[in-house]
Amino acid sequence: MNVSDASVDFGHLVRRRPSAVVRPRSAAEIAGVVRSAAADGVPVAARGRGHSGYGQALTDGVVADMSTLAAVHEAGDDRIVVDAGAGWDAVLAAAWERGRTPPVLTDYLGLSVGGTLSAGGIGGTSFRHGLQTDTVLSLEVVTGDGVVRTCGPGDEVFAAVLGGLGQCGIITRATLRLVPAPAHVRRQELDYDTVAAAALDQVRFISEDRFDFVQGQVRFGGSGRRVFLETYSEGGGDLPFLEFQHRLDAAEALLTGTGAWFHPHPWWNCFLPEPAAVDFLSTLVERLRPEDLGEAGCVLFYPVFTGRVRAPLVRLPAERIAFLVAILRFPPDDAALAARQVAENRRFYEEARELGGVTYPIGAIPFTPPDWQHHFGDQWPSLRAWKSRYDPAGVLTPGPGIF
Ligand SMILES: Cc1cc2nc3c(=O)[nH]c(=O)nc-3n(C[C@H](O)[C@H](O)[C@H](O)COP(=O)(O)OP(=O)(O)OC[C@H]3O[C@@H](n4cnc5c(N)ncnc54)[C@H](O)[C@@H]3O)c2cc1C
Repeated sequence: MNVSDASVDFGHLVRRRPSAVVRPRSAAEIAGVVRSAAADGVPVAARGRGHSGYGQALTDGVVADMSTLAAVHEAGDDRIVVDAGAGWDAVLAAAWERGRTPPVLTDYLGLSVGGTLSAGGIGGTSFRHGLQTDTVLSLEVVTGDGVVRTCGPGDEVFAAVLGGLGQCGIITRATLRLVPAPAHVRRQELDYDTVAAAALDQVRFISEDRFDFVQGQVRFGGSGRRVFLETYSEGGGDLPFLEFQHRLDAAEALLTGTGAWFHPHPWWNCFLPEPAAVDFLSTLVERLRPEDLGEAGCVLFYPVFTGRVRAPLVRLPAERIAFLVAILRFPPDDAALAARQVAENRRFYEEARELGGVTYPIGAIPFTPPDWQHHFGDQWPSLRAWKSRYDPAGVLTPGPGIF
């Protein structure tokens, strides 16, 4: 990773050229970098795989390229110890050798453990297991004062970094829970006439525990709009589990080939409470035009039981069930179009917020410090106190623009 690569992210909407990129080989090295940056008042941001949408991992200060701290250490039957720069693909591969898997995997596995744990990490099994942040047994963290700390559930630092958007510490190592992995799954696609019918069925399915994986999608390309649920059951079936988990590899290769992987991606992600989410989705899919999304674009929607998401900085609506609604756009490489879509993202956000919606802060929604205060709600005083305790020089992770 050089300075030029570290100036952009997957969103391709924000550019920020760092003064240096460091390639740390240990937590102690990161601690040294953070200490000297803090002494000089230079910002520092960890970069996992750079798959954020709006500059979350960018800085004009120092970028810590976590790809050099990516080892998988011990894998046991119920846990695995990994460096935070490891990709979920590597975590799954090591767990799989013992017939195990992380309980929650993101749709796309080319994301780093530190990158998703600092945001949340949601997948089609989240209705049962919560987010990836709910599957962490312990962490090693370098806080903004340059101290290496280990922490677990009940510790303040643990609460400050899980879903903490890199504000208080850089995660360097994680011990993650594992569960038995099925060898095969029985995958189904269920088609619907309307997104409302699909969403309501999802609520029924997760309430009845009908499937082991549930996600909803709207696709707009080809012969018109298609609304469907993708599910799998662990009993029976002949689709190898690993093949299912790598289901986006082919799309990544294709989009890398066409160049669309490197275009602007004004993605939008919010959690909306049920039942308001259903109406919001119904209106949203009427308003989006195929050209807004591109051939490969889609809307994803799937519910979680909010009570299963325990990290206090991962913000969700207060209702018992919330839907993640995600607009994944792959538009042409057109800066003016991208700017219009970012502005539209902001409008959609304001509408969602009126309904009790909360952003999942990985995409491209322009946010001001007051927006962040609203976002963190009753956790804002804690985050502010933790920020001044663990990052007293205020150098960590300026990208989201929270402080
Ligand atoms: C194709 C694609 C598919 C996706 N699918 C999903 C999905 O299914 N589910 C889901 O939840 N999300 C998904 N995402 C979003 C993704 O999880 C987040 O954007 C995530 O933060 C990216 O991880 P990364 O390793 O690329 O992090 P980066 O973009 O490198 O960093 C993200 C943020 O975390 C900080 N950070 C990075 N590493 C650390 C660390 N070790 N310690 C502390 N802070 C750190 C960075 O400074 C930055 O602020 C997807 C994104 C893309 C592009």
